[in-house]
Amino acid sequence: MNASFDLYQLPEEHIALREAVRGLADKEIAPYAADADEHERFTVEAYGALARAGFAAVHIDEAYGGQGADSVATCILIEEVARACAASSLIPAVNKLGSLPIILSGSEALKRLVLPSLASGEAMISYALSEREAGSDNASMRTRARLDGDHWVLDGTKAWITGAGESTWYTVMAVTDPNATRRVDGISAFVVHRDDPGFAVGTKERKLGIKGSPTAEIHFTGCTIPADRIIGEPGTGLRTALATLDHTRPTIGAQAVGIAQGALDAALAYVRERRQFGRAIADNQGVQFMLADMGMKIEAARHLVYVSAARAERGEKGLGFVSAAAKCFASDVAMEVTTDAVQLFGGAGYTRDFPVERMMRDAKITQIYEGTNQIQRVVMSRQLLRG
Ligand SMILES: Cc1cc2nc3c(=O)[nH]c(=O)nc-3n(C[C@H](O)[C@H](O)[C@H](O)COP(=O)(O)OP(=O)(O)OC[C@H]3O[C@@H](n4cnc5c(N)ncnc54)[C@H](O)[C@@H]3O)c2cc1C
Repeated sequence: MNASFDLYQLPEEHIALREAVRGLADKEIAPYAADADEHERFTVEAYGALARAGFAAVHIDEAYGGQGADSVATCILIEEVARACAASSLIPAVNKLGSLPIILSGSEALKRLVLPSLASGEAMISYALSEREAGSDNASMRTRARLDGDHWVLDGTKAWITGAGESTWYTVMAVTDPNATRRVDGISAFVVHRDDPGFAVGTKERKLGIKGSPTAEIHFTGCTIPADRIIGEPGTGLRTALATLDHTRPTIGAQAVGIAQGALDAALAYVRERRQFGRAIADNQGVQFMLADMGMKIEAARHLVYVSAARAERGEKGLGFVSAAAKCFASDVAMEVTTDAVQLFGGAGYTRDFPVERMMRDAKITQIYEGTNQIQRVVMSRQLLRG
């Protein structure tokens, strides 16, 4: 044996980050999670706490005033916030999702315009790819952008935008060449500011879960932005948007792992306390086996998430399979584990007096957004068949 063998062991700074975030989440985020869910209000307390700690957009490079956290560290942060409140974990997660197209393909001027405001916590950014009629088939989007002198003019509506209304910045994918032979070559990406003329936020969706995170349509009506707010070259926007997802699907996996861990922790405490037939329900082997399966699945999901994040950090080729696998596996685990946690609480689990029903509702979205789990399986099988 060799106690200093460091393969499959997180470095000390990652372990320290986990402890710091867990402390902050337990103290400043968890106490407001049920209230934000109950009243369907933005988790302002979490935003304040994360921003003050420099954790709201922890992935932003030091050159732009950020912490420069690597992909694994960012996943750990999101996981620990999600363990307390899934909705709050969307603050760092969507800041990464919205800003990554700029980080991957934006001009230096665009980076300087947007990234420092995210790093300081002064602003948030959303990612606008989906439309009502273009979800899984996002290349069929109808939002248009045309160049008019030294401005781009956007028209259309994006749907399901996380953070809409709270975000200052929006990364928006729109069709710039409707006649492109391949749809992917006709789509470009832009950065829109909430004060840009012709931009408006629609009504908030009434959702099953993650109620502390606003989701809404955003409308563009002759929305005029400076020409240099395009991300990369015209016609590269969808490629950038999809490359972004290869980097951010691990973060949704991390969110799912955090939700599942929160549910397991709550269930462990409950089964030790709750007594039936004259003994703790934890003394039943049928309950113990459920706990074992929950813990086993979470552990497997966590490893897959960290490996996918590490591979994304290294910028490895062929990230599609492992990123999709991490998101798909971890979110399926979160759904199973949270459902089992409700089961272990019995009738109490079905009430809002305990957090596990919220965790079960919150877990469901991780199987849907950033591509449904069917689409993740399409991505994985395509790569397998390509060889
Ligand atoms: C709360 C919430 C937040 C969101 N946040 C954002 C955001 O910030 N930015 C953003 O751009 N989008 C966001 N989305 C949109 C999300 O990514 C889409 O809802 C998702 O991609 C699915 O698209 P859809 O809803 O149109 O479903 P559809 O594409 O209509 O799919 C319906 C069903 O058909 C299945 N299906 C479709 N095509 C296939 C296929 N080829 N093979 C097998 N099954 C298939 C799907 O898996 C699903 O089960 C969010 C959605 C929600 C609900």
